[in-house]
Amino acid sequence: MIRCMKTSFRASKETIDRLFECNRVSGEVWNRCLELAKETHLKTGKWITKSALQKGTKGIFPIHSQSVQAVCHKYLFARDAARKARKAGHPNKYPYKRKNHFNTKWANNGFKVFENGKVQLSMGKLEGKLQAPLILWIKELPKGQIKEIELIFNRQLMLAIAYEDGQKVKENTFANRSAIDVGEIHTIAAVAENGENIMITGRKIRSIHRLRNKKLAELQRKMSKCTKGSKQWKRYNRAKRYVLSKSDKQLQDALHKTTKQFVDWCIEIEVKEVAFGDVDGVQRNTSRRKKKKVRRRTTNQKLSNWSFGKVYAYLTYKLEAEGMKIDKHDESDTTRQCPCCPKKRKVSSRIYTCPCGYTNHRDLHGASNFFAKTFYDEIRELDFSLKPTKYLRIA
Ligand SMILES: [Zn+2]
Repeated sequence: MIRCMKTSFRASKETIDRLFECNRVSGEVWNRCLELAKETHLKTGKWITKSALQKGTKGIFPIHSQSVQAVCHKYLFARDAARKARKAGHPNKYPYKRKNHFNTKWANNGFKVFENGKVQLSMGKLEGKLQAPLILWIKELPKGQIKEIELIFNRQLMLAIAYEDGQKVKENTFANRSAIDVGEIHTIAAVAENGENIMITGRKIRSIHRLRNKKLAELQRKMSKCTKGSKQWKRYNRAKRYVLSKSDKQLQDALHKTTKQFVDWCIEIEVKEVAFGDVDGVQRNTSRRKKKKVRRRTTNQKLSNWSFGKVYAYLTYKLEAEGMKIDKHDESDTTRQCPCCPKKRKVSSRIYTCPCGYTNHRDLHGASNFFAKTFYDEIRELDFSLKPTKYLRIA
Protein backbone atom coordinates (compact mmCIF):
# COMPACT_ATOMS: atom_id res chain seq x y z
CA MET A 1 0.00 0.00 0.00
CA ILE A 2 1.10 3.54 -0.69
CA ARG A 3 1.79 5.47 2.48
CA CYS A 4 3.05 8.95 3.20
CA MET A 5 5.67 10.20 5.61
CA LYS A 6 6.61 13.76 6.46
CA THR A 7 10.15 14.47 7.50
CA SER A 8 12.55 17.32 8.05
CA PHE A 9 15.97 17.31 6.42
CA ARG A 10 19.42 18.82 6.48
CA ALA A 11 20.85 20.82 3.59
CA SER A 12 23.29 23.63 2.94
CA LYS A 13 22.12 27.22 3.07
CA GLU A 14 22.50 27.46 -0.68
CA THR A 15 20.36 24.35 -1.23
CA ILE A 16 17.67 25.68 1.09
CA ASP A 17 17.55 28.87 -0.97
CA ARG A 18 17.28 26.86 -4.15
CA LEU A 19 14.50 24.73 -2.66
CA PHE A 20 12.52 27.86 -1.79
CA GLU A 21 13.11 28.97 -5.35
CA CYS A 22 11.70 25.63 -6.59
CA ASN A 23 8.43 26.27 -4.80
CA ARG A 24 8.35 29.81 -6.14
CA VAL A 25 8.85 28.48 -9.68
CA SER A 26 6.15 25.86 -9.11
CA GLY A 27 3.84 28.75 -8.17
CA GLU A 28 4.68 30.31 -11.56
CA VAL A 29 3.82 27.03 -13.28
CA TRP A 30 0.48 27.04 -11.50
CA ASN A 31 -0.19 30.61 -12.61
CA ARG A 32 0.76 29.66 -16.17
CA CYS A 33 -1.78 26.82 -16.00
CA LEU A 34 -4.46 29.33 -14.99
CA GLU A 35 -3.49 31.64 -17.87
CA LEU A 36 -3.39 28.86 -20.47
CA ALA A 37 -6.75 27.52 -19.34
CA LYS A 38 -8.28 31.00 -19.55
CA GLU A 39 -6.78 31.71 -22.98
CA THR A 40 -8.00 28.40 -24.34
CA HIS A 41 -11.46 28.95 -22.98
CA LEU A 42 -11.72 32.48 -24.39
CA LYS A 43 -10.47 31.37 -27.80
CA THR A 44 -12.31 28.09 -28.27
CA GLY A 45 -14.96 28.02 -25.55
CA LYS A 46 -13.51 24.68 -24.57
CA TRP A 47 -11.51 23.42 -21.66
CA ILE A 48 -7.81 22.98 -22.01
CA THR A 49 -6.69 19.39 -22.49
CA LYS A 50 -3.98 17.66 -20.54
CA SER A 51 -1.66 17.50 -23.53
CA ALA A 52 -2.16 21.19 -24.41
CA LEU A 53 -1.40 22.12 -20.83
CA GLN A 54 1.76 20.03 -20.81
CA LYS A 55 2.86 21.45 -24.15
CA GLY A 56 2.22 25.00 -22.97
CA THR A 57 4.37 24.58 -19.87
CA LYS A 58 7.15 22.46 -21.33
CA GLY A 59 10.74 23.68 -21.42
CA ILE A 60 10.06 27.11 -19.94
CA PHE A 61 10.71 26.53 -16.27
CA PRO A 62 14.05 25.70 -14.64
CA ILE A 63 12.69 22.84 -12.52
CA HIS A 64 12.58 19.16 -13.48
CA SER A 65 10.13 18.40 -16.31
CA GLN A 66 8.23 15.96 -14.12
CA SER A 67 7.96 18.58 -11.41
CA VAL A 68 6.32 20.88 -13.97
CA GLN A 69 3.97 18.09 -15.03
CA ALA A 70 3.02 17.43 -11.43
CA VAL A 71 1.72 21.01 -11.11
CA CYS A 72 -0.31 20.54 -14.31
CA HIS A 73 -1.78 17.36 -12.88
CA LYS A 74 -2.74 19.14 -9.69
CA TYR A 75 -4.38 21.90 -11.68
CA LEU A 76 -6.39 19.37 -13.71
CA PHE A 77 -7.30 17.49 -10.57
CA ALA A 78 -8.55 20.66 -8.86
CA ARG A 79 -10.52 21.65 -11.96
CA ASP A 80 -12.17 18.24 -12.32
CA ALA A 81 -12.96 18.04 -8.62
CA ALA A 82 -14.65 21.45 -8.85
CA ARG A 83 -16.62 20.30 -11.85
CA LYS A 84 -17.80 17.22 -10.02
CA ALA A 85 -18.81 19.23 -6.95
CA ARG A 86 -20.68 21.77 -9.10
CA LYS A 87 -22.53 18.99 -10.87
CA ALA A 88 -23.62 17.75 -7.45
CA GLY A 89 -25.01 21.21 -6.74
CA HIS A 90 -22.25 22.71 -4.60
CA PRO A 91 -21.05 26.27 -5.14
CA ASN A 92 -17.38 25.32 -5.67
CA LYS A 93 -15.23 27.64 -7.74
CA TYR A 94 -12.91 26.51 -10.47
CA PRO A 95 -9.24 27.11 -9.65
CA TYR A 96 -8.58 30.81 -10.16
CA LYS A 97 -6.27 31.99 -7.36
CA ARG A 98 -2.75 32.89 -8.39
CA LYS A 99 -0.03 31.52 -6.15
CA ASN A 100 3.35 32.78 -5.06
CA HIS A 101 4.43 29.36 -3.89
CA PHE A 102 3.40 25.84 -4.73
CA ASN A 103 4.70 22.50 -3.48
CA THR A 104 7.26 21.00 -5.83
CA LYS A 105 7.08 17.32 -6.55
CA TRP A 106 9.70 14.91 -7.81
CA ALA A 107 8.48 11.65 -9.34
CA ASN A 108 10.21 8.44 -10.50
CA ASN A 109 13.01 9.87 -12.67
CA GLY A 110 13.30 13.12 -10.79
CA PHE A 111 15.04 11.86 -7.67
CA LYS A 112 17.55 9.40 -6.31
CA VAL A 113 17.67 8.13 -2.77
CA PHE A 114 20.73 6.54 -1.19
CA GLU A 115 20.79 4.16 1.73
CA ASN A 116 22.72 6.55 3.92
CA GLY A 117 19.83 9.04 3.82
CA LYS A 118 21.16 11.18 1.00
CA VAL A 119 18.46 12.46 -1.32
CA GLN A 120 19.24 13.87 -4.74
CA LEU A 121 16.57 15.96 -6.44
CA SER A 122 16.99 16.71 -10.12
CA MET A 123 16.48 20.11 -11.68
CA GLY A 124 15.69 21.31 -15.18
CA LYS A 125 17.62 23.48 -17.60
CA LEU A 126 18.35 27.12 -16.92
CA GLU A 127 19.45 29.13 -19.98
CA GLY A 128 20.11 25.92 -21.87
CA LYS A 129 22.29 24.42 -19.18
CA LEU A 130 21.21 21.55 -16.94
CA GLN A 131 21.46 22.66 -13.33
CA ALA A 132 23.19 20.66 -10.64
CA PRO A 133 20.85 18.48 -8.58
CA LEU A 134 19.86 19.46 -5.06
CA ILE A 135 21.45 17.39 -2.33
CA LEU A 136 19.82 16.96 1.04
CA TRP A 137 19.93 14.53 3.92
CA ILE A 138 17.19 12.90 5.91
CA LYS A 139 17.60 11.06 9.16
CA GLU A 140 15.43 8.07 8.52
CA LEU A 141 14.29 6.72 5.18
CA PRO A 142 10.85 5.14 4.99
CA LYS A 143 10.88 1.35 4.81
CA GLY A 144 9.73 0.64 1.32
CA GLN A 145 10.03 1.82 -2.24
CA ILE A 146 9.83 5.59 -2.58
CA LYS A 147 7.39 6.74 -5.25
CA GLU A 148 7.29 10.50 -4.91
CA ILE A 149 8.90 13.29 -2.97
CA GLU A 150 7.12 16.56 -2.37
CA LEU A 151 8.62 19.70 -0.95
CA ILE A 152 6.15 21.19 1.53
CA PHE A 153 6.26 24.14 3.86
CA ASN A 154 5.07 23.74 7.42
CA ARG A 155 6.80 26.45 9.45
CA GLN A 156 9.91 25.11 7.71
CA LEU A 157 10.66 23.28 4.51
CA MET A 158 9.93 19.57 4.84
CA LEU A 159 9.64 16.56 2.61
CA ALA A 160 6.47 14.53 2.16
CA ILE A 161 7.55 11.14 0.92
CA ALA A 162 5.07 8.73 -0.68
CA TYR A 163 6.22 5.14 -0.59
CA GLU A 164 5.02 1.60 -1.13
CA ASP A 165 5.25 -0.19 2.21
CA GLY A 166 5.07 -3.61 0.56
CA GLN A 167 2.16 -4.68 2.71
CA LYS A 168 -0.58 -6.58 0.94
CA VAL A 169 -4.20 -5.83 1.64
CA LYS A 170 -5.40 -8.31 4.21
CA GLU A 171 -8.08 -10.79 3.28
CA ASN A 172 -10.88 -11.72 5.61
CA THR A 173 -14.17 -13.57 5.74
CA PHE A 174 -16.00 -10.78 7.56
CA ALA A 175 -19.62 -10.22 6.58
CA ASN A 176 -21.20 -7.59 8.87
CA ARG A 177 -22.35 -4.23 7.63
CA SER A 178 -21.97 -1.14 9.75
CA ALA A 179 -23.10 2.49 9.62
CA ILE A 180 -21.09 5.27 11.15
CA ASP A 181 -22.23 8.69 12.28
CA VAL A 182 -19.57 11.34 12.68
CA GLY A 183 -20.42 14.18 14.99
CA GLU A 184 -19.38 16.81 17.44
CA ILE A 185 -20.05 15.22 20.82
CA HIS A 186 -19.07 11.76 19.77
CA THR A 187 -16.51 11.74 17.04
CA ILE A 188 -17.80 8.39 16.01
CA ALA A 189 -21.03 6.55 16.74
CA ALA A 190 -21.52 3.30 14.87
CA VAL A 191 -23.97 0.46 14.65
CA ALA A 192 -23.30 -2.97 13.16
CA GLU A 193 -25.59 -5.68 11.93
CA ASN A 194 -24.89 -8.08 14.75
CA GLY A 195 -26.19 -5.54 17.25
CA GLU A 196 -22.77 -4.33 18.34
CA ASN A 197 -22.47 -0.58 18.68
CA ILE A 198 -19.81 1.83 19.73
CA MET A 199 -19.35 5.47 20.66
CA ILE A 200 -15.99 7.15 20.64
CA THR A 201 -16.04 10.45 22.40
CA GLY A 202 -14.80 13.62 20.76
CA ARG A 203 -13.90 15.31 24.03
CA LYS A 204 -10.20 15.45 23.32
CA ILE A 205 -10.74 16.87 19.87
CA ARG A 206 -13.17 19.46 21.16
CA SER A 207 -10.72 20.58 23.80
CA ILE A 208 -7.99 21.04 21.20
CA HIS A 209 -10.39 23.16 19.16
CA ARG A 210 -11.46 25.18 22.14
CA LEU A 211 -7.95 25.92 23.25
CA ARG A 212 -6.88 26.84 19.76
CA ASN A 213 -9.82 29.20 19.24
CA LYS A 214 -9.17 30.84 22.58
CA LYS A 215 -5.50 31.45 21.79
CA LEU A 216 -6.25 32.67 18.29
CA ALA A 217 -8.88 35.10 19.54
CA GLU A 218 -6.43 36.49 22.07
CA LEU A 219 -3.73 36.97 19.43
CA GLN A 220 -6.25 38.51 17.06
CA ARG A 221 -7.25 40.98 19.76
CA LYS A 222 -3.64 41.94 20.35
CA MET A 223 -2.97 42.25 16.62
CA SER A 224 -5.91 44.55 16.12
CA LYS A 225 -4.24 46.99 18.52
CA CYS A 226 -1.02 47.35 16.58
CA THR A 227 -0.24 48.60 13.10
CA LYS A 228 -0.55 45.94 10.46
CA GLY A 229 2.86 44.85 9.29
CA SER A 230 4.72 46.35 12.26
CA LYS A 231 7.37 44.40 14.15
CA GLN A 232 5.02 43.54 17.00
CA TRP A 233 2.24 42.61 14.60
CA LYS A 234 4.57 40.24 12.78
CA ARG A 235 5.55 38.69 16.09
CA TYR A 236 1.90 37.99 16.90
CA ASN A 237 1.33 36.71 13.41
CA ARG A 238 4.17 34.23 13.81
CA ALA A 239 2.69 33.11 17.11
CA LYS A 240 -0.65 32.66 15.37
CA ARG A 241 0.89 30.44 12.73
CA TYR A 242 2.59 28.46 15.46
CA VAL A 243 -0.68 27.90 17.32
CA LEU A 244 -2.32 26.79 14.09
CA SER A 245 0.31 24.31 13.06
CA LYS A 246 0.68 22.91 16.57
CA SER A 247 -3.02 22.36 17.02
CA ASP A 248 -3.21 20.87 13.53
CA LYS A 249 -0.67 18.29 14.56
CA GLN A 250 -2.52 17.49 17.79
CA LEU A 251 -5.76 17.23 15.89
CA GLN A 252 -4.27 14.93 13.32
CA ASP A 253 -2.90 12.74 16.06
CA ALA A 254 -6.28 12.58 17.81
CA LEU A 255 -8.06 11.75 14.57
CA HIS A 256 -5.58 8.99 13.83
CA LYS A 257 -6.15 7.48 17.27
CA THR A 258 -9.92 7.75 17.01
CA THR A 259 -10.12 6.17 13.57
CA LYS A 260 -7.69 3.44 14.68
CA GLN A 261 -10.03 2.58 17.55
CA PHE A 262 -12.93 2.35 15.18
CA VAL A 263 -11.05 0.10 12.76
CA ASP A 264 -9.97 -2.15 15.65
CA TRP A 265 -13.62 -2.45 16.65
CA CYS A 266 -14.54 -3.35 13.06
CA ILE A 267 -11.98 -6.14 13.10
CA GLU A 268 -13.16 -7.38 16.46
CA ILE A 269 -16.80 -7.69 15.41
CA GLU A 270 -15.97 -8.71 11.82
CA VAL A 271 -17.28 -5.82 9.78
CA LYS A 272 -16.99 -6.02 6.00
CA GLU A 273 -18.64 -2.85 4.84
CA VAL A 274 -18.94 0.59 6.42
CA ALA A 275 -21.44 3.27 5.39
CA PHE A 276 -20.25 6.83 5.97
CA GLY A 277 -22.63 9.79 6.03
CA ASP A 278 -22.26 12.12 3.08
CA VAL A 279 -21.17 15.19 4.93
CA ASP A 280 -21.39 17.64 2.05
CA GLY A 281 -25.09 17.54 2.72
CA VAL A 282 -24.57 18.37 6.38
CA GLN A 283 -22.40 21.35 5.65
CA ARG A 284 -24.83 22.64 3.08
CA ASN A 285 -27.60 22.42 5.59
CA THR A 286 -25.71 24.36 8.20
CA SER A 287 -24.85 27.19 5.85
CA ARG A 288 -28.46 27.43 4.83
CA ARG A 289 -29.49 27.60 8.44
CA LYS A 290 -26.86 30.21 9.10
CA LYS A 291 -28.54 32.56 6.68
CA LYS A 292 -31.78 32.26 8.60
CA LYS A 293 -30.46 32.54 12.11
CA VAL A 294 -27.33 34.26 13.27
CA ARG A 295 -27.37 32.27 16.49
CA ARG A 296 -26.63 29.22 14.40
CA ARG A 297 -23.19 30.52 13.56
CA THR A 298 -21.48 28.90 16.52
CA THR A 299 -22.76 25.48 15.57
CA ASN A 300 -21.73 26.13 12.03
CA GLN A 301 -18.25 27.10 13.07
CA LYS A 302 -17.91 23.93 15.08
CA LEU A 303 -18.99 21.86 12.15
CA SER A 304 -16.74 23.54 9.66
CA ASN A 305 -13.86 23.16 12.09
CA TRP A 306 -14.60 19.54 11.91
CA SER A 307 -12.36 17.58 9.70
CA PHE A 308 -14.96 15.23 8.32
CA GLY A 309 -12.91 14.86 5.18
CA LYS A 310 -9.91 13.81 7.21
CA VAL A 311 -11.90 11.28 9.21
CA TYR A 312 -13.12 9.80 5.94
CA ALA A 313 -9.66 9.72 4.39
CA TYR A 314 -8.08 8.10 7.46
CA LEU A 315 -10.86 5.54 7.70
CA THR A 316 -10.60 4.73 4.01
CA TYR A 317 -6.96 3.82 4.05
CA LYS A 318 -7.10 2.06 7.41
CA LEU A 319 -10.16 0.00 6.54
CA GLU A 320 -8.95 -0.86 3.06
CA ALA A 321 -5.68 -2.12 4.49
CA GLU A 322 -7.73 -4.57 6.53
CA GLY A 323 -9.73 -5.70 3.52
CA MET A 324 -12.91 -3.78 4.36
CA LYS A 325 -14.67 -1.18 2.34
CA ILE A 326 -16.21 2.20 3.08
CA ASP A 327 -18.66 4.23 1.01
CA LYS A 328 -20.48 7.51 1.33
CA HIS A 329 -24.26 7.46 1.53
CA ASP A 330 -26.96 10.06 1.91
CA GLU A 331 -27.70 10.66 5.58
CA SER A 332 -30.39 13.32 5.31
CA ASP A 333 -33.21 13.12 7.85
CA THR A 334 -31.47 10.38 9.82
CA THR A 335 -31.13 12.55 12.92
CA ARG A 336 -34.63 14.00 12.89
CA GLN A 337 -36.79 11.08 11.80
CA CYS A 338 -38.32 8.65 14.31
CA PRO A 339 -37.81 5.07 13.11
CA CYS A 340 -41.07 3.82 14.64
CA CYS A 341 -43.57 6.40 13.41
CA PRO A 342 -43.57 8.97 10.61
CA LYS A 343 -42.80 11.89 12.96
CA LYS A 344 -39.83 14.16 12.48
CA ARG A 345 -38.50 16.29 15.28
CA LYS A 346 -35.55 18.41 16.17
CA VAL A 347 -33.22 16.94 18.74
CA SER A 348 -31.98 19.42 21.27
CA SER A 349 -30.94 17.12 24.10
CA ARG A 350 -28.62 14.14 24.17
CA ILE A 351 -31.58 11.78 24.09
CA TYR A 352 -33.98 11.49 21.20
CA THR A 353 -37.50 10.90 22.43
CA CYS A 354 -40.68 10.58 20.43
CA PRO A 355 -44.29 10.80 21.73
CA CYS A 356 -44.82 7.29 20.30
CA GLY A 357 -42.57 5.94 23.04
CA TYR A 358 -39.36 5.48 21.08
CA THR A 359 -36.24 6.74 22.80
CA ASN A 360 -32.53 6.42 22.09
CA HIS A 361 -29.25 8.21 22.59
CA ARG A 362 -29.08 10.92 19.98
CA ASP A 363 -25.92 9.73 18.25
CA LEU A 364 -26.87 6.06 18.33
CA HIS A 365 -30.28 7.05 17.04
CA GLY A 366 -28.58 8.81 14.11
CA ALA A 367 -26.30 5.88 13.37
CA SER A 368 -29.18 3.36 13.59
CA ASN A 369 -31.34 5.41 11.24
CA PHE A 370 -28.42 5.85 8.90
CA PHE A 371 -27.93 2.08 8.90
CA ALA A 372 -31.59 1.55 8.00
CA LYS A 373 -31.57 4.26 5.36
CA THR A 374 -28.47 2.82 3.71
CA PHE A 375 -29.14 -0.90 3.94
CA TYR A 376 -32.96 -1.09 4.03
CA ASP A 377 -33.50 1.94 1.79
CA GLU A 378 -35.85 3.51 4.33
CA ILE A 379 -35.68 4.82 7.86
CA ARG A 380 -37.37 2.19 10.01
CA GLU A 381 -36.71 -0.01 13.03
CA LEU A 382 -33.64 -2.19 12.76
CA ASP A 383 -34.04 -5.92 12.11
CA PHE A 384 -31.82 -6.58 15.10
CA SER A 385 -31.68 -5.25 18.63
CA LEU A 386 -28.73 -3.29 19.91
CA LYS A 387 -26.38 -4.80 22.43
CA PRO A 388 -24.98 -2.68 25.27
CA THR A 389 -22.98 0.23 23.90
CA LYS A 390 -19.21 0.17 23.97
CA TYR A 391 -17.86 3.54 25.03
CA LEU A 392 -14.34 4.55 24.15
CA ARG A 393 -12.27 7.67 24.40
CA ILE A 394 -8.78 8.52 23.35
CA ALA A 395 -6.15 9.25 25.92
ZN1 LIG B 1 -42.11 7.96 16.97
